[in-house]
Amino acid sequence: MTMFLDMKTVMILIVLGHLFSVLLISAYWRTQTKDHILSRFLLAKCTQGFAWMLIVVRNGVPDVYTMSIANSLLFIGFALETVAMLKLQQAFHRSTKMLYAALILGAIVGYHLVIIFNNHENIRIAAASIGTALFMVVPAYLMIRSKAASYIMKIMGLLYISTIVSLIGRAIVALLSDQTIGMFTPGMYQTFSFLALFLIMFIGNIGFVLLLKEQVDQELVRLANYDDLTGVLNRRTFVSLSKQVIAEHAKKQKHLSLVLFDIDHFKKINDTYGHHIGDRALQQLAKHIGSQLRGTDSFSRYGGDEFAILLPGANESEADRLVESFRQTTMQIHIPGMTSSLSISLGVVTLIPNEQTKLEALYKVCDRALYDAKDNGRNGAARIQATLLG
Ligand code: GH3
Ligand code: MG
Repeated sequence: MTMFLDMKTVMILIVLGHLFSVLLISAYWRTQTKDHILSRFLLAKCTQGFAWMLIVVRNGVPDVYTMSIANSLLFIGFALETVAMLKLQQAFHRSTKMLYAALILGAIVGYHLVIIFNNHENIRIAAASIGTALFMVVPAYLMIRSKAASYIMKIMGLLYISTIVSLIGRAIVALLSDQTIGMFTPGMYQTFSFLALFLIMFIGNIGFVLLLKEQVDQELVRLANYDDLTGVLNRRTFVSLSKQVIAEHAKKQKHLSLVLFDIDHFKKINDTYGHHIGDRALQQLAKHIGSQLRGTDSFSRYGGDEFAILLPGANESEADRLVESFRQTTMQIHIPGMTSSLSISLGVVTLIPNEQTKLEALYKVCDRALYDAKDNGRNGAARIQATLLG
């Protein structure tokens, strides 16, 4: 089966694709605070769209100036797009910046050396293809290799790799063939080139928008589940996770422990050193105690200076050992600007739950234990028996 694509039609589709991406992204951008990743991507699309328009306007008869300007703009446009993609992956550092500056320079200089010394269409195509493919290597590698890569990222990584392979294939065919295989020469190679170009635009536009959305979604999930100041779970998420854990442990008939703790005389800390030092104390406390927990434990800021920890599988002695370690750790925390030391009081309850066990009831008895610890002079722990559960 022979399949020929009409060059002008595809070019116009590519220009329109870029144009509408710019339109839609600009509309989205107006509602966002000035996002530098989005603006980089917008600039990339404008640069590429303009370059393709130059090629279309020349009506398939490229002169040396159009080739020079259009290809340089395309290299810059592809590089800017990849940079925006890398920024989205939080993988654009100083070294990547230098690498991309060198790649843009290398691609433009290399292409112009070909124009000056060996201005043959096949060689130009090989140079342009290799230059474009090189820009994609880093994001493709990161998307495939990263352990944290999402499903969308992995698929995009695969699309990038297939585009790199087709661009290199195109360069090899161009170098080995004795016929002209230019974009403007109808044939299988032209079809192949257009499909690769279309794929690049497709990955760039849809992929970027999806990745951006994924990042915004992740941020929303973080905001919805975690406490802003301390980074530990918020109360709502802790309650819903704990209910699941209690139900699972009731089924498996395994121990679990709930710990509540509260900073001693926190009002005084705020009054003496200021609210910002109080905030710092909350953050440091959450950090130090959080570092002692296992992945299965849930740690939450229950409100104000009160925190809750659910320890699945922890029996009385294990919970007591941890509680003592939290207390000791707290006394060693140093907050810059604060001369007194920090202390906490803790309440703890341990039980093997049953189907009737409710988190609210567990919280109530544990809170009573916390009050006992406060009454006993603070900087200590009190345990309450689960038999007191209503
Ligand atoms: P106690 O030993 O009995 O716990 O005494 P306390 O002074 O710590 O009393 P309490 O736990 O009731 O005080 C909570 C204080 O925590 C009151 C409030 O001003 C302060 N607080 C609540 N949220 C924040 C916050 O986000 N940042 C700061 N800096 N202070 C907070
Ligand atoms: Mg307190």
